[in-house]
Amino acid sequence: MSGPFSLSDRALSLKPSSTVAVTSRALELQRQGVDVISMSVGEPDFDTPDHVKAAAIRAIESGKTKYTAVSGIAELREAISAKFARENGLTYAPECVTVTSGGKQALFNAFFALLNPGDEVLIPAPYWVSYPEMVALTGAVPVAVPTTPESGFMLDPGELEARVTARTRMIVLNSPGNPTGAVFSPEVLRGVAAVAQRHGLMIVTDEMYEHLVYDAEQLSIGTLAPEHTLTVNGASKAYAMTGWRIGYAGGPKGVIAAMNALQSQSTSNASSVSQYAALAALGDHEATAQFVTLARAAYRARRDRIVSGLNALGLRTPTPQGAFYVMADTTPIHADELEATRRILDEARVAVVPGTDFAAPGQVRLSYATSMDNINEVLRRLAPLSGA
Ligand code: GLU
Repeated sequence: MSGPFSLSDRALSLKPSSTVAVTSRALELQRQGVDVISMSVGEPDFDTPDHVKAAAIRAIESGKTKYTAVSGIAELREAISAKFARENGLTYAPECVTVTSGGKQALFNAFFALLNPGDEVLIPAPYWVSYPEMVALTGAVPVAVPTTPESGFMLDPGELEARVTARTRMIVLNSPGNPTGAVFSPEVLRGVAAVAQRHGLMIVTDEMYEHLVYDAEQLSIGTLAPEHTLTVNGASKAYAMTGWRIGYAGGPKGVIAAMNALQSQSTSNASSVSQYAALAALGDHEATAQFVTLARAAYRARRDRIVSGLNALGLRTPTPQGAFYVMADTTPIHADELEATRRILDEARVAVVPGTDFAAPGQVRLSYATSMDNINEVLRRLAPLSGA
């Protein structure tokens, strides 16, 4: 080995997040004055609601700027416990709730708390880029369970069960899903819960997009198999609070305790000021609900426009039932999605995420969490590339 340091096997095996990478690239081009429209990052374009910002300012002014309990301030855990009961029908006492630096840290802590090297984890595909990477970091093995555009990316519990082996320990669910926007039906979720119960598996369900559902019924699988389920959520998507970095999880007490122990040795606690902001979002839930209702209506109109526009260009795009992403078939632009992504950026000046790291070959992900004007302009720019 030459050079002053050698990187760990873990660091060498880790693939950096492609959603974050494309977004950084688009920001850099914009900074250089290039007229790029970013459809890459999954981030609401709305501003954080005023009552949430005001609470954060009050927290700073009143000196709430110190360490908090590892699991989060008691008032926030109580508000999260009440939210789980009110909105999801889930019973998680405040000591069964933990607050983290974004949903990603909740997932990270959960995987490290629950997985051993060699364990297998079932993940419906296309999946969000970070699930398999985080699972692999623990030494466990991600196992993709395919879904298809033809079925609207609906999970088949039979396909899931067919991949259970003696080493399977966990199922990761994300509904509404990133990148597909699929919302798994109550019937599918009942099937998944039954698989978990039959084989003694843990379900980690990421419900970050739960408020962004358009034509489907949203059900929390934790109501069906509580002892098997860890429910992850956060403030980022529903309340336009990505930069505040507040995630949370509710689940069996022993799992939460192990996640807290991990967090005590890493970040200690989520930002105190952000926790008070999240408390306002969850505590003053009627003001927050008004914001969510307006945002959801805007996303629905944008979804309808982008889906019909992309299909009219010959870029086949199923209608997602939730979240704020679409998956477009870019094979008319190029058979290889990486090459299609490159052409879309270079020739149309539109940043999208290639399906490669989502296990979605021939497709790219577009986030429609952007203005209707941008969506119309993107469709105009893509027209010459698609040949339509
Ligand atoms: N979850 C969002 C996305 O997929 C934000 C970036 C990330 O954390 O991956 O774009």
